[in-house]
Amino acid sequence: MTRILHRSIAAALPRAVSGQGVHIGDAEGRSYIDGSGGAAVSCLGHGNAEVLEAMRAQMDRIAYAHTSFFTTDAAESLAERLVRLAPEGLDYVYPVSGGSEAVEAALKMARQYFVEIGQPQRRHIIARRQSYHGNTIGALAAGGNAWRRAQFQPILPETHHVSPCYAYRDQRPDETVEDYAARLAAELEARIIELGPDQVIAFVAEPVVGATMGAVPAVPGYFRRIREVCDRHGVLLILDEVMCGMGRTGSIFACAAEGVRPDLVTIAKGLGGGYQPIGAVMLSERIYRAFADGSGLFQHGHTYIGHPVAAAAADKVVEILSRPGMMEHVQAMGERLQSGLDAALGQSPHVGDIRGRGLFRGIELVADKDDKAPFDPARRIHARVKKEAMARGLLCYPMGGTIDGVRGDHVLLAPPYIIQPEEIDQIVDRLAGAI
Ligand code: PMP
Repeated sequence: MTRILHRSIAAALPRAVSGQGVHIGDAEGRSYIDGSGGAAVSCLGHGNAEVLEAMRAQMDRIAYAHTSFFTTDAAESLAERLVRLAPEGLDYVYPVSGGSEAVEAALKMARQYFVEIGQPQRRHIIARRQSYHGNTIGALAAGGNAWRRAQFQPILPETHHVSPCYAYRDQRPDETVEDYAARLAAELEARIIELGPDQVIAFVAEPVVGATMGAVPAVPGYFRRIREVCDRHGVLLILDEVMCGMGRTGSIFACAAEGVRPDLVTIAKGLGGGYQPIGAVMLSERIYRAFADGSGLFQHGHTYIGHPVAAAAADKVVEILSRPGMMEHVQAMGERLQSGLDAALGQSPHVGDIRGRGLFRGIELVADKDDKAPFDPARRIHARVKKEAMARGLLCYPMGGTIDGVRGDHVLLAPPYIIQPEEIDQIVDRLAGAI
Protein backbone atom coordinates (compact mmCIF):
# COMPACT_ATOMS: atom_id res chain seq x y z
CA MET A 1 0.00 0.00 0.00
CA THR A 2 1.41 3.37 -0.94
CA ARG A 3 0.06 6.86 -0.34
CA ILE A 4 2.50 8.33 -2.83
CA LEU A 5 1.45 9.32 -6.31
CA HIS A 6 4.14 7.41 -8.13
CA ARG A 7 4.87 8.16 -11.75
CA SER A 8 3.57 4.81 -12.84
CA ILE A 9 0.59 4.35 -10.61
CA ALA A 10 0.11 0.64 -11.14
CA ALA A 11 3.75 -0.25 -10.53
CA ALA A 12 4.51 -1.99 -7.26
CA LEU A 13 7.98 -0.77 -6.40
CA PRO A 14 10.41 -2.52 -4.10
CA ARG A 15 11.45 -0.46 -1.08
CA ALA A 16 15.07 0.65 -1.04
CA VAL A 17 16.44 0.25 2.49
CA SER A 18 20.20 0.47 2.12
CA GLY A 19 22.90 1.74 -0.16
CA GLN A 20 26.61 1.08 -0.02
CA GLY A 21 29.12 1.78 -2.76
CA VAL A 22 27.65 0.69 -6.09
CA HIS A 23 24.91 -1.43 -4.47
CA ILE A 24 21.35 -0.77 -3.35
CA GLY A 25 19.47 -3.20 -1.11
CA ASP A 26 15.69 -3.60 -0.91
CA ALA A 27 13.37 -4.64 1.92
CA GLU A 28 13.11 -8.17 0.54
CA GLY A 29 16.84 -8.63 0.97
CA ARG A 30 17.69 -8.32 -2.72
CA SER A 31 20.80 -6.46 -3.82
CA TYR A 32 21.17 -4.51 -7.08
CA ILE A 33 24.18 -3.03 -8.83
CA ASP A 34 23.30 0.61 -9.35
CA GLY A 35 24.16 0.52 -13.04
CA SER A 36 22.45 3.82 -13.79
CA GLY A 37 23.31 5.82 -10.66
CA GLY A 38 19.55 6.33 -10.33
CA ALA A 39 19.20 8.61 -13.33
CA ALA A 40 22.91 9.48 -13.65
CA VAL A 41 22.90 10.99 -10.18
CA SER A 42 24.92 8.82 -7.78
CA CYS A 43 28.36 9.62 -9.14
CA LEU A 44 30.20 8.62 -5.96
CA GLY A 45 28.00 5.69 -5.08
CA HIS A 46 26.08 5.31 -1.85
CA GLY A 47 27.16 5.89 1.72
CA ASN A 48 30.20 8.04 0.98
CA ALA A 49 31.56 8.79 4.46
CA GLU A 50 33.23 12.06 3.50
CA VAL A 51 30.11 13.54 1.97
CA LEU A 52 27.97 12.43 4.92
CA GLU A 53 30.46 14.00 7.30
CA ALA A 54 30.47 17.29 5.37
CA MET A 55 26.67 17.39 5.58
CA ARG A 56 26.67 16.56 9.27
CA ALA A 57 29.24 19.25 10.01
CA GLN A 58 27.19 21.82 8.10
CA MET A 59 23.97 20.81 9.88
CA ASP A 60 25.75 21.26 13.19
CA ARG A 61 26.75 24.79 12.20
CA ILE A 62 23.62 25.98 10.39
CA ALA A 63 21.17 24.01 8.28
CA TYR A 64 19.30 26.84 6.58
CA ALA A 65 19.74 30.53 5.93
CA HIS A 66 17.73 32.42 3.33
CA THR A 67 19.80 34.01 0.58
CA SER A 68 18.05 37.34 0.91
CA PHE A 69 19.84 37.68 4.26
CA PHE A 70 23.00 35.60 4.06
CA THR A 71 25.54 33.81 1.96
CA THR A 72 27.40 30.88 3.55
CA ASP A 73 30.91 29.45 3.51
CA ALA A 74 29.52 26.27 1.97
CA ALA A 75 27.86 28.04 -0.96
CA GLU A 76 30.83 30.35 -1.55
CA SER A 77 33.29 27.47 -1.43
CA LEU A 78 31.20 25.45 -3.89
CA ALA A 79 30.93 28.39 -6.29
CA GLU A 80 34.67 29.01 -6.21
CA ARG A 81 35.43 25.35 -6.76
CA LEU A 82 33.05 25.09 -9.72
CA VAL A 83 34.53 28.18 -11.36
CA ARG A 84 38.07 26.79 -10.90
CA LEU A 85 37.08 23.53 -12.59
CA ALA A 86 34.88 24.93 -15.35
CA PRO A 87 36.13 25.70 -18.85
CA GLU A 88 37.51 29.22 -19.07
CA GLY A 89 34.88 31.92 -19.20
CA LEU A 90 32.30 30.47 -16.83
CA ASP A 91 33.00 32.74 -13.91
CA TYR A 92 29.83 32.90 -11.82
CA VAL A 93 27.38 30.47 -10.28
CA TYR A 94 23.66 30.69 -9.62
CA PRO A 95 22.73 27.83 -7.29
CA VAL A 96 19.31 26.14 -7.41
CA SER A 97 17.81 22.88 -6.20
CA GLY A 98 17.76 20.65 -9.26
CA GLY A 99 17.98 20.28 -13.01
CA SER A 100 14.66 21.73 -14.11
CA GLU A 101 15.19 24.72 -11.84
CA ALA A 102 18.63 25.22 -13.39
CA VAL A 103 17.23 25.17 -16.93
CA GLU A 104 14.35 27.42 -15.96
CA ALA A 105 16.76 29.90 -14.36
CA ALA A 106 19.10 29.79 -17.38
CA LEU A 107 16.24 30.55 -19.78
CA LYS A 108 15.08 33.48 -17.67
CA MET A 109 18.64 34.70 -17.22
CA ALA A 110 19.18 34.64 -20.98
CA ARG A 111 15.93 36.50 -21.53
CA GLN A 112 16.62 39.13 -18.92
CA TYR A 113 20.19 39.53 -20.21
CA PHE A 114 18.80 40.92 -23.45
CA VAL A 115 16.46 43.22 -21.55
CA GLU A 116 19.44 44.48 -19.56
CA ILE A 117 21.46 45.22 -22.70
CA GLY A 118 18.59 46.94 -24.48
CA GLN A 119 17.40 44.19 -26.81
CA PRO A 120 14.06 43.30 -25.22
CA GLN A 121 12.60 42.30 -28.57
CA ARG A 122 14.52 39.01 -28.45
CA ARG A 123 12.09 36.38 -27.31
CA HIS A 124 12.62 33.06 -29.07
CA ILE A 125 14.34 30.01 -27.69
CA ILE A 126 15.55 27.28 -30.05
CA ALA A 127 16.27 23.79 -28.80
CA ARG A 128 16.52 20.35 -30.39
CA ARG A 129 13.86 17.76 -31.03
CA GLN A 130 15.82 15.12 -29.16
CA SER A 131 16.46 16.81 -25.86
CA TYR A 132 15.11 16.56 -22.35
CA HIS A 133 15.51 19.71 -20.31
CA GLY A 134 13.21 19.09 -17.36
CA ASN A 135 9.60 18.96 -16.33
CA THR A 136 8.71 22.48 -15.19
CA ILE A 137 6.71 24.31 -17.81
CA GLY A 138 9.55 26.38 -19.32
CA ALA A 139 12.02 23.51 -19.32
CA LEU A 140 9.34 21.23 -20.77
CA ALA A 141 8.62 23.75 -23.53
CA ALA A 142 12.32 23.78 -24.42
CA GLY A 143 12.53 19.98 -24.31
CA GLY A 144 12.31 18.40 -27.72
CA ASN A 145 10.02 15.45 -27.16
CA ALA A 146 6.64 16.33 -28.60
CA TRP A 147 5.00 13.42 -26.79
CA ARG A 148 6.07 14.79 -23.40
CA ARG A 149 4.55 18.18 -24.20
CA ALA A 150 1.42 16.87 -25.92
CA GLN A 151 -0.91 16.83 -22.93
CA PHE A 152 0.15 20.26 -21.78
CA GLN A 153 -0.50 22.23 -24.94
CA PRO A 154 -0.75 25.10 -25.43
CA ILE A 155 2.63 25.20 -23.78
CA LEU A 156 4.85 28.28 -23.76
CA PRO A 157 5.02 29.83 -27.20
CA GLU A 158 8.28 31.14 -28.65
CA THR A 159 10.06 27.83 -28.24
CA HIS A 160 11.19 26.10 -31.41
CA HIS A 161 13.02 22.93 -32.25
CA VAL A 162 15.58 21.90 -34.81
CA SER A 163 17.14 18.53 -35.61
CA PRO A 164 19.26 16.77 -33.04
CA CYS A 165 22.76 15.54 -33.81
CA TYR A 166 22.00 11.84 -33.99
CA ALA A 167 24.45 10.22 -36.35
CA TYR A 168 23.09 6.67 -35.95
CA ARG A 169 19.82 7.62 -37.62
CA ASP A 170 20.41 10.94 -39.34
CA GLN A 171 23.87 11.02 -40.87
CA ARG A 172 23.47 10.09 -44.51
CA PRO A 173 25.60 7.26 -45.88
CA ASP A 174 27.32 9.58 -48.37
CA GLU A 175 27.85 12.37 -45.83
CA THR A 176 31.12 13.04 -43.98
CA VAL A 177 31.05 14.01 -40.32
CA GLU A 178 31.98 17.58 -41.32
CA ASP A 179 29.17 17.75 -43.86
CA TYR A 180 26.71 16.37 -41.34
CA ALA A 181 27.71 18.95 -38.71
CA ALA A 182 27.53 21.68 -41.34
CA ARG A 183 24.04 20.59 -42.42
CA LEU A 184 22.76 20.77 -38.84
CA ALA A 185 24.38 24.14 -38.25
CA ALA A 186 22.83 25.43 -41.47
CA GLU A 187 19.42 24.25 -40.28
CA LEU A 188 19.84 26.19 -37.04
CA GLU A 189 20.98 29.28 -38.91
CA ALA A 190 18.02 29.08 -41.29
CA ARG A 191 15.66 28.88 -38.33
CA ILE A 192 17.28 31.88 -36.63
CA ILE A 193 16.97 33.91 -39.83
CA GLU A 194 13.37 32.84 -40.31
CA LEU A 195 12.47 33.97 -36.77
CA GLY A 196 14.41 37.18 -37.27
CA PRO A 197 18.12 37.32 -36.46
CA ASP A 198 17.65 39.88 -33.70
CA GLN A 199 14.69 38.00 -32.25
CA VAL A 200 16.34 34.90 -30.84
CA ILE A 201 17.57 34.65 -27.27
CA ALA A 202 19.33 31.35 -27.07
CA PHE A 203 20.00 27.92 -28.47
CA VAL A 204 19.80 25.19 -25.83
CA ALA A 205 21.36 21.74 -26.16
CA GLU A 206 22.80 18.89 -24.14
CA PRO A 207 26.45 18.22 -25.06
CA VAL A 208 25.71 14.50 -24.73
CA VAL A 209 21.98 13.78 -24.90
CA GLY A 210 20.78 11.69 -21.99
CA ALA A 211 17.29 11.30 -20.74
CA THR A 212 15.47 10.43 -23.92
CA MET A 213 17.94 8.75 -26.18
CA GLY A 214 20.53 7.12 -23.99
CA ALA A 215 23.87 8.92 -24.22
CA VAL A 216 24.16 10.36 -27.70
CA PRO A 217 27.30 12.46 -28.18
CA ALA A 218 27.40 15.00 -30.98
CA VAL A 219 29.74 14.37 -33.90
CA PRO A 220 33.11 16.14 -33.64
CA GLY A 221 32.93 19.76 -34.75
CA TYR A 222 29.16 20.06 -34.36
CA PHE A 223 29.24 22.38 -31.35
CA ARG A 224 31.99 24.54 -32.84
CA ARG A 225 29.80 25.17 -35.88
CA ILE A 226 26.79 25.81 -33.66
CA ARG A 227 28.82 28.34 -31.66
CA GLU A 228 29.76 30.14 -34.88
CA VAL A 229 26.12 30.36 -35.95
CA CYS A 230 25.09 31.68 -32.51
CA ASP A 231 27.88 34.27 -32.60
CA ARG A 232 26.91 35.47 -36.07
CA HIS A 233 23.43 36.32 -34.77
CA GLY A 234 24.16 37.35 -31.21
CA VAL A 235 22.35 34.27 -29.90
CA LEU A 236 23.42 32.85 -26.53
CA LEU A 237 24.53 29.22 -26.30
CA ILE A 238 23.11 27.40 -23.29
CA LEU A 239 24.52 23.94 -22.67
CA ASP A 240 22.47 21.68 -20.44
CA GLU A 241 24.87 19.44 -18.53
CA VAL A 242 22.36 18.39 -15.91
CA MET A 243 22.84 14.75 -16.84
CA CYS A 244 26.15 14.60 -18.73
CA GLY A 245 28.09 16.99 -16.51
CA MET A 246 30.05 16.57 -13.28
CA GLY A 247 32.47 14.02 -14.62
CA ARG A 248 29.93 11.67 -16.14
CA THR A 249 31.60 11.68 -19.58
CA GLY A 250 35.16 11.60 -18.26
CA SER A 251 35.73 15.34 -17.88
CA ILE A 252 34.18 17.41 -15.10
CA PHE A 253 32.35 19.51 -17.68
CA ALA A 254 31.20 17.65 -20.79
CA CYS A 255 31.54 20.77 -22.94
CA ALA A 256 35.29 20.82 -22.29
CA ALA A 257 35.54 18.04 -24.90
CA GLU A 258 33.72 20.13 -27.51
CA GLY A 259 36.11 23.06 -27.53
CA VAL A 260 33.40 25.71 -27.28
CA ARG A 261 32.67 28.45 -24.80
CA PRO A 262 29.04 28.37 -23.77
CA ASP A 263 27.40 31.48 -22.31
CA LEU A 264 25.44 29.50 -19.74
CA VAL A 265 25.79 25.95 -18.47
CA THR A 266 23.29 24.10 -16.30
CA ILE A 267 24.38 21.38 -13.90
CA ALA A 268 22.59 19.25 -11.27
CA LYS A 269 22.26 15.49 -10.63
CA GLY A 270 25.91 14.46 -10.06
CA LEU A 271 26.58 17.82 -8.43
CA GLY A 272 24.85 16.60 -5.29
CA GLY A 273 25.69 12.99 -6.07
CA GLY A 274 22.26 12.01 -4.73
CA TYR A 275 23.16 13.21 -1.24
CA GLN A 276 21.25 16.45 -1.64
CA PRO A 277 19.04 17.96 -4.33
CA ILE A 278 21.07 20.74 -5.89
CA GLY A 279 21.72 22.30 -9.27
CA ALA A 280 23.31 25.44 -10.63
CA VAL A 281 23.61 27.72 -13.60
CA MET A 282 27.13 28.78 -14.49
CA LEU A 283 27.39 32.02 -16.38
CA SER A 284 29.97 34.08 -18.18
CA GLU A 285 31.37 37.42 -17.14
CA ARG A 286 29.44 39.02 -20.01
CA ILE A 287 26.09 37.88 -18.60
CA TYR A 288 27.06 38.75 -15.04
CA ARG A 289 28.21 42.25 -16.14
CA ALA A 290 24.92 42.95 -17.89
CA PHE A 291 23.09 42.39 -14.61
CA ALA A 292 25.69 44.15 -12.49
CA ASP A 293 25.83 47.22 -14.76
CA GLY A 294 22.12 47.09 -15.49
CA SER A 295 19.24 46.68 -13.06
CA GLY A 296 21.47 44.95 -10.51
CA LEU A 297 18.80 42.34 -9.93
CA PHE A 298 18.12 38.97 -11.53
CA GLN A 299 14.34 38.68 -11.35
CA HIS A 300 14.27 35.15 -10.08
CA GLY A 301 14.66 33.16 -6.91
CA HIS A 302 13.65 30.08 -5.00
CA THR A 303 13.39 29.43 -1.29
CA TYR A 304 16.19 26.86 -1.21
CA ILE A 305 18.77 28.64 -3.36
CA GLY A 306 22.24 27.95 -2.00
CA HIS A 307 20.89 25.69 0.74
CA PRO A 308 23.85 25.30 3.12
CA VAL A 309 23.59 21.52 3.59
CA ALA A 310 23.10 20.94 -0.13
CA ALA A 311 26.03 23.25 -0.87
CA ALA A 312 28.25 21.50 1.69
CA ALA A 313 27.41 18.11 0.20
CA ALA A 314 28.05 19.34 -3.35
CA ASP A 315 31.26 21.06 -2.34
CA LYS A 316 32.59 17.77 -0.99
CA VAL A 317 31.28 15.78 -3.98
CA VAL A 318 33.00 18.12 -6.42
CA GLU A 319 36.19 18.14 -4.37
CA ILE A 320 36.27 14.32 -4.55
CA LEU A 321 35.51 14.39 -8.29
CA SER A 322 38.44 16.68 -8.90
CA ARG A 323 41.01 14.47 -7.14
CA PRO A 324 43.87 13.15 -9.29
CA GLY A 325 42.98 9.96 -11.12
CA MET A 326 39.21 10.24 -10.78
CA MET A 327 38.45 11.31 -14.35
CA GLU A 328 41.05 8.86 -15.70
CA HIS A 329 39.23 6.11 -13.82
CA VAL A 330 35.89 7.21 -15.34
CA GLN A 331 37.47 7.09 -18.80
CA ALA A 332 39.06 3.67 -18.24
CA MET A 333 35.89 2.14 -16.78
CA GLY A 334 33.86 3.74 -19.58
CA GLU A 335 36.06 2.10 -22.21
CA ARG A 336 35.78 -1.24 -20.43
CA LEU A 337 32.00 -0.87 -20.35
CA GLN A 338 31.84 0.02 -24.05
CA SER A 339 34.09 -2.85 -25.13
CA GLY A 340 32.27 -5.28 -22.85
CA LEU A 341 28.92 -4.22 -24.33
CA ASP A 342 30.31 -4.38 -27.86
CA ALA A 343 31.57 -7.92 -27.27
CA ALA A 344 28.43 -9.17 -25.51
CA LEU A 345 25.77 -7.37 -27.54
CA GLY A 346 27.37 -6.00 -30.69
CA GLN A 347 26.18 -8.96 -32.78
CA SER A 348 22.70 -9.09 -31.30
CA PRO A 349 20.05 -8.67 -34.01
CA HIS A 350 18.18 -6.36 -31.62
CA VAL A 351 20.99 -4.03 -30.60
CA GLY A 352 21.27 -1.24 -33.13
CA ASP A 353 23.78 1.05 -31.51
CA ILE A 354 26.00 1.12 -28.42
CA ARG A 355 27.40 4.58 -27.76
CA GLY A 356 28.38 7.22 -25.27
CA ARG A 357 31.35 8.72 -23.51
CA GLY A 358 32.93 7.95 -20.15
CA LEU A 359 30.53 6.22 -17.76
CA PHE A 360 27.56 7.40 -19.79
CA ARG A 361 26.56 4.70 -22.24
CA GLY A 362 23.40 4.03 -24.18
CA ILE A 363 22.10 1.00 -25.99
CA GLU A 364 19.49 1.43 -28.71
CA LEU A 365 17.28 -1.58 -29.17
CA VAL A 366 15.74 -2.27 -32.56
CA ALA A 367 13.45 -4.89 -34.05
CA ASP A 368 15.77 -5.22 -37.04
CA LYS A 369 19.41 -4.29 -36.95
CA ASP A 370 19.73 -4.04 -40.74
CA ASP A 371 17.06 -1.46 -41.41
CA LYS A 372 17.09 0.00 -37.85
CA ALA A 373 13.35 -0.57 -37.59
CA PRO A 374 12.12 0.11 -34.07
CA PHE A 375 10.05 -2.30 -32.03
CA ASP A 376 6.29 -1.93 -31.89
CA PRO A 377 5.79 0.61 -29.06
CA ALA A 378 3.05 -1.54 -27.54
CA ARG A 379 5.69 -4.11 -26.63
CA ARG A 380 7.45 -1.61 -24.32
CA ILE A 381 10.76 -3.37 -24.84
CA HIS A 382 12.75 -0.85 -22.78
CA ALA A 383 10.51 -1.43 -19.75
CA ARG A 384 10.81 -5.19 -20.15
CA VAL A 385 14.59 -4.97 -20.28
CA LYS A 386 14.56 -2.90 -17.08
CA LYS A 387 12.38 -5.51 -15.38
CA GLU A 388 14.53 -8.41 -16.55
CA ALA A 389 17.66 -6.56 -15.46
CA MET A 390 16.21 -5.93 -11.99
CA ALA A 391 15.39 -9.62 -11.70
CA ARG A 392 19.11 -10.22 -12.34
CA GLY A 393 20.21 -7.66 -9.77
CA LEU A 394 20.98 -4.76 -12.12
CA LEU A 395 19.50 -1.27 -12.26
CA CYS A 396 19.60 0.23 -15.75
CA TYR A 397 17.59 3.22 -16.87
CA PRO A 398 15.00 2.48 -19.57
CA MET A 399 13.95 5.08 -22.11
CA GLY A 400 11.25 5.01 -24.70
CA GLY A 401 10.00 7.94 -26.66
CA THR A 402 9.13 9.00 -30.15
CA ILE A 403 11.52 11.33 -31.92
CA ASP A 404 10.64 12.41 -35.42
CA GLY A 405 8.18 9.58 -35.65
CA VAL A 406 10.70 6.92 -34.70
CA ARG A 407 9.84 5.09 -31.54
CA GLY A 408 12.97 4.46 -29.53
CA ASP A 409 13.80 1.76 -27.04
CA HIS A 410 16.94 2.70 -25.17
CA VAL A 411 18.75 1.65 -22.05
CA LEU A 412 21.07 4.01 -20.22
CA LEU A 413 24.02 2.90 -18.12
CA ALA A 414 25.57 5.48 -15.80
CA PRO A 415 27.13 3.71 -12.81
CA PRO A 416 28.96 5.46 -9.97
CA TYR A 417 32.53 6.48 -10.76
CA ILE A 418 33.92 4.32 -7.97
CA ILE A 419 32.95 1.22 -9.93
CA GLN A 420 35.60 -1.47 -10.35
CA PRO A 421 36.40 -3.63 -13.42
CA GLU A 422 34.70 -6.76 -12.07
CA GLU A 423 31.51 -4.79 -11.39
CA ILE A 424 31.58 -3.40 -14.93
CA ASP A 425 31.76 -6.99 -16.17
CA GLN A 426 28.80 -7.94 -13.96
CA ILE A 427 26.78 -5.07 -15.44
CA VAL A 428 27.55 -6.29 -18.95
CA ASP A 429 26.66 -9.92 -18.13
CA ARG A 430 23.41 -9.04 -16.41
CA LEU A 431 22.32 -6.60 -19.09
CA ALA A 432 23.17 -9.05 -21.86
CA GLY A 433 21.12 -11.69 -20.00
CA ALA A 434 18.21 -9.30 -19.66
CA ILE A 435 18.27 -8.27 -23.33
N1 PMP B 1 18.18 18.58 -18.09
C1 PMP B 1 18.63 17.36 -18.39
C2 PMP B 1 19.64 17.21 -19.49
C3 PMP B 1 18.19 16.24 -17.67
O1 PMP B 1 18.65 15.02 -17.98
C4 PMP B 1 17.27 16.43 -16.62
C5 PMP B 1 16.76 15.26 -15.78
N2 PMP B 1 16.74 14.05 -16.38
C6 PMP B 1 16.81 17.72 -16.35
C7 PMP B 1 17.30 18.77 -17.09
C8 PMP B 1 15.84 17.99 -15.25
O2 PMP B 1 16.43 17.75 -14.02
P1 PMP B 1 15.56 17.45 -12.72
O3 PMP B 1 14.92 16.12 -12.94
O4 PMP B 1 16.57 17.46 -11.62
O5 PMP B 1 14.59 18.55 -12.59
